[in-house]
Amino acid sequence: MIAQRTLKTLTRAVGVGLHSGARVELTLRPAAPDTGIVFRRTDLNEPVTLPARATSVSDTRRASTLSSGGVKVSTVEHLMSACCGLGIDNLLVDITAEEVPILDGSAASFVYLLQSAGLVQQNAARRFLRVTRPVEVRQGEGRHLKWARLEPYHGFKLGFEIEFEHPAVSASGQRVEFDLGSGQYAREIARARTFGFARDVEALRSQGLALGGGLDNAIVMDDVKVLNADGLRFADEFAKHKILDAMGDLYLVGHPMLAAYSAYRSGHALNNLLLRELLAQPDCYELISFESERSAPRGFAQLAAAW
Ligand SMILES: [Zn+2]
Repeated sequence: MIAQRTLKTLTRAVGVGLHSGARVELTLRPAAPDTGIVFRRTDLNEPVTLPARATSVSDTRRASTLSSGGVKVSTVEHLMSACCGLGIDNLLVDITAEEVPILDGSAASFVYLLQSAGLVQQNAARRFLRVTRPVEVRQGEGRHLKWARLEPYHGFKLGFEIEFEHPAVSASGQRVEFDLGSGQYAREIARARTFGFARDVEALRSQGLALGGGLDNAIVMDDVKVLNADGLRFADEFAKHKILDAMGDLYLVGHPMLAAYSAYRSGHALNNLLLRELLAQPDCYELISFESERSAPRGFAQLAAAW
């Protein structure tokens, strides 16, 4: 059986929110089978629970934000990506502010935290969401066109193309493909950082955004080059970060997905729209589990055995 997984023990991190700049403590705790990934705002008088679900996403400007009755947790996508990449089904995420800490701007710190705590298999089968018919969303036309698509695939793979007119991005390759069954998530995807422009930082800060952002937690560019002293972590780090984000956004469907995702200039908003479109069409997906490891997609049983 391919079993559900959670943490072996709890683990903690302290950081700042990318947009709020506020100090935030994060505690990751083991959770029972079929809990899913659940955020809890523990700084409020009455702690508020926010399950990580596509239908709870309320704001997708620059990050994916979950809301419940006026209470928010924002920038969930990098932690969600790490959970997807490591195959974690059940997790309680206690957080003391509105925003998940940005840490180094990638999912690498979350991967390190989760791996250090260790993972355990649970006595329940993983329930995969298998896409059975193509689903697509499109926005804009011409140079404003964006789209994202899910198609049936025995496994989980993603292809992402960005179109960014900037010398550093053009030089870096704008299309990346990644197959989760390769077992290379931690090495190839998790370390890719978020990115932005120095000239936007001032405008964002005047709106109270990007207050915690800087060269320690983002790739920052001027009009011609990357400003970080150490340069890029990968030649194609920009497109790889979009794969990282998409994995986090898609994991909000509440299950590991069996599908081929492809996207052109998509982002948090369109990824969320794609999930809502999928969930609105029950004939386009089914929930399945694998009683034998042999029937699971390539690499998935190894991913389980690694823990
Ligand atoms: Zn991101």
